[in-house]
Amino acid sequence: SSAWWSARRPAMSMSAAGNSRNYDYIILGGGNAAGYAARQFVEKHGVAPHSLAIVSAEAVAPYERPALSKAFLAPESPARLPGFHTCVGAGGERQLPEWYEKHGVDLLLSTEIVRADVKQKTLTARDGQQMQYDKLMVAVGSGVVRLSDFGTPGAELGGIHYLREVADAERLYAAMKEAENQEAVVIGGGYIGMECAAALANNRLKVTMVFPEEHMMPRLFTPAIAQHYEKAYRDRGIKFVKGKLAQSLSDADGNGRVTHVHLKDGTVLPARLVVVGVGARPRSELFKDSLEQEMGGIKVNAQLQTSDPSVYCVGDMAAFPLKMYGNRMTRVEHVGHARESAMHAADVMAGARHDAYDYLPFFYSRVFNFSWKFWGDTPKDAKTIVAGTMDPKLAAVWIDQDSKVVGTFIESGTEAEEKKLKALARHPHKVDATAVEAAAAKGGVAGL
Ligand code: FAD
Ligand code: NDP
Repeated sequence: SSAWWSARRPAMSMSAAGNSRNYDYIILGGGNAAGYAARQFVEKHGVAPHSLAIVSAEAVAPYERPALSKAFLAPESPARLPGFHTCVGAGGERQLPEWYEKHGVDLLLSTEIVRADVKQKTLTARDGQQMQYDKLMVAVGSGVVRLSDFGTPGAELGGIHYLREVADAERLYAAMKEAENQEAVVIGGGYIGMECAAALANNRLKVTMVFPEEHMMPRLFTPAIAQHYEKAYRDRGIKFVKGKLAQSLSDADGNGRVTHVHLKDGTVLPARLVVVGVGARPRSELFKDSLEQEMGGIKVNAQLQTSDPSVYCVGDMAAFPLKMYGNRMTRVEHVGHARESAMHAADVMAGARHDAYDYLPFFYSRVFNFSWKFWGDTPKDAKTIVAGTMDPKLAAVWIDQDSKVVGTFIESGTEAEEKKLKALARHPHKVDATAVEAAAAKGGVAGL
């Protein structure tokens, strides 16, 4: 409704057929990657006015999605759009709709593409409008995995929240404010579970986290790191029910709003509000028959180009070769990769570079007064050395079978500590694990 909310409709450039818009470049998706790609096209490659379009199902210009589970849910002065449009998350200019207008980038919002024809190079929106591209960047991201996907009884009840887009975050915020001092159940011990449980506790709800593993963030945290955070959560009143699956949800009063979560072992947890974070899934439907797929996403080469030479894919959707790990294929659902792959692909599409995308895996989170960062790899057979000095500071390294440091983690690091740990992960070199262990025991984080 406000001016920044509604994007400008582009001046149409009609094709010979007269019914479709022609663009040199289309970015399909208007999320994290799209905002950074647009900036790269505009600032580095000076694209001609109205030769570039972003086509997004969302109603708002690209924004920093990570804010939704953090500052957006803060009890006091929560962040709201337009405050966190891209590219503020990486210290850049905040791109309001006016920025796109000023630079002649057509921002087609509330425009869901339902058909993509890579042979004809056309996209068709739900309302029938068509557009044509020379080169396409696919940046459609991930969708939420829902309890209904598992057939969980009660999944359709009110009061069950997922978090992916601004509208979800607005609903969750309102529900949270109504449920102060009441019970909330968080299902899932991954990123959403961990961040939302903290947000709910900050907003004075009584939170229980339920997840099937032995500790939170099982794919990244070692038991020692998890213990560190779980203690912090318990100190703030959050309870854990571990090793348990949510089997069903129910509304005791039959009014269609969730009141209880039932676990497989018979435990029943009261819940005024439920937040579910049981994973994300790449949105692969549009191209599943036309582009080569891998790991649930679209397969790209080192230049982020798909099996169709005119189509590139970035962000959550792309299955790409990790150059620094012998081109092992991977898919990464994190914002650092969304930003970097988008900028790299924009350069390639503009013909300005041909080198391989060389990403150093980087994950981070912020909960309560904690802020952690991880760089590199966590091979299953790695030896992990965790060093702690004063609470809350903690750091860890992962040492692989060749005695190389391949992964590094730090909590509340100083700039110098973060720089050092990032460099260690970027340039894996051999160490004497016993000596590192002794140094960490003696010198804490500084010993690593
Ligand atoms: P997205 O940002 O998901 O954007 C996809 C866009 O495509 C959306 O605008 C969508 O509407 C649009 N779209 C999809 N299908 C169509 C279609 N058919 N037609 C038109 N448009 C379409 N990562 C971190 O590293 N750190 C964090 O702290 C962090 N926090 C997060 C918090 C939350 C709540 C969530 C949900 C994710 C978080 N992530 C975080 C992950 C990070 O946000 C994603 O990895 C990143 O947003 C991926 O960028 P993307 O551009 O590939 O996809
Ligand atoms: P995650 O994959 O991080 O975590 C999902 C968790 O839920 C896993 O621990 C999973 O266990 C568990 N789980 C799966 N099924 C069930 C079930 N039926 N009952 C209980 N637990 C279950 O996904 P999220 O939903 O947390 O995050 C969604 C997306 O958002 C991801 O792409 C994530 O990267 C992104 N995100 C990133 C953030 C960050 O980087 N800081 C912050 C917030 C979101 P198992 O592993 O055994 O399947």
